[in-house]
Amino acid sequence: MRSEQTGAPVREGVIPLSEPSLGGNEWKYVKECLDTGWVSSSGPFVDRFERDLTGRVGVRHAVATTSGTAALHVALLVAGVQPDDEVLIPALTFIAPANAVRYVGAWPVFVDVERDYWQMDPLKVRDFLLRECRWHEGALYNRTNGRRVRAIVPVHLLGHPCDLVPLVDLARRFELRLIEDATQSLGARYRDQAVGRVGDLACFSFNGNKLVTTGGGGMIATNDEALAAQARYLTTQAKLDGVEYVHGDIGYNYRLSNVQAAIGCAQLERLDDFVAEKRRIASTYGDALGALPGVSTMAEAPWAWSTYWLSTIRVDGARARVDRRKLMERFEAVGVQTRPLWQPLHRSPAHRGAQAYRCEAADEIQAEALSLPSSVGLREADQRRVIAVLVDAVGGRL
Ligand SMILES: *Cc1c(COP(=O)(O)O)cnc(C)c1O
Repeated sequence: MRSEQTGAPVREGVIPLSEPSLGGNEWKYVKECLDTGWVSSSGPFVDRFERDLTGRVGVRHAVATTSGTAALHVALLVAGVQPDDEVLIPALTFIAPANAVRYVGAWPVFVDVERDYWQMDPLKVRDFLLRECRWHEGALYNRTNGRRVRAIVPVHLLGHPCDLVPLVDLARRFELRLIEDATQSLGARYRDQAVGRVGDLACFSFNGNKLVTTGGGGMIATNDEALAAQARYLTTQAKLDGVEYVHGDIGYNYRLSNVQAAIGCAQLERLDDFVAEKRRIASTYGDALGALPGVSTMAEAPWAWSTYWLSTIRVDGARARVDRRKLMERFEAVGVQTRPLWQPLHRSPAHRGAQAYRCEAADEIQAEALSLPSSVGLREADQRRVIAVLVDAVGGRL
């Protein structure tokens, strides 16, 4: 049993939000690392993990990193984001992409999500670029503060892909880099293609609570050989010469270890099963909860094949008998882990001072959203228990 944040154990008898499933070749591959002495930040499993991921995503290059956040940091650097530039980020997401923008000295601009699927709203992105920005000598600038706008980082939220075609069009038209934050959505498909192959770069995470975990880890994926080479260089201390230790730039120690990659290889082998299981969990919730007063489950867009990484509902406190907060307390009292979505970033004390563009839906969704237990290993009886608590709390009937 693990906690939702870190994959650390939770109390016995508690139904966890999402715990990893480690019953495949993980032991065998880790033992191989120990037996052969390949435990550090290079080795056959690192190479294989990168290769396996390129195969899964359908990209040419992948560079393994110590975390998804590190992947985002380096992706922004190699995309050419400079200090004082601006990068468009959805308001409703885990904070990591916004933090990564600050690591490079640039600024996030928070753009709203759309109401149907909770993903970055391409219409508002377009409006921001058209109305709030202007061209000057071949570059795009924010009219309000004069900063150069350099990139868009859409986040495929909760296992569901963003609508990429309009975002790609906007990136082309406004000459911006597109970096997909696919950290929550490995295995998801956009119009029959894996997420992570459309942007200039894409980032994945293998944190303890993600669908595929290495304990902690990340990956940068790209079709561009030069970007991949630069990412590899920066994640390995920008080493020019490994014998005499000549370093060409300020680099980072961001390489994934062989032990972690070994776990990742075993996990990736089971990705299809994981996704099938997550989709089954989501559809069971959908069937049981969809008709309850004031409760709605996540929809899947016509362009989407979602992994349903975390099954998340909305509870309209005016129509259901409880609001989201009370419902969470009810679950907690009976040993069921649930979790609200993240504080919308335009409200984050950590990012005060960043511009927000018409972030309304993000607030509405966040006020009502609650993620339910969604572990790959969630037992049917446990899911029935979760459903029964919810039905009782909102005043519906099974
Ligand atoms: C998990 C996550 C990350 C960062 O991944 P870590 O591996 O935890 O650093 C980045 N962006 C989003 C949207 C995430 O959910």
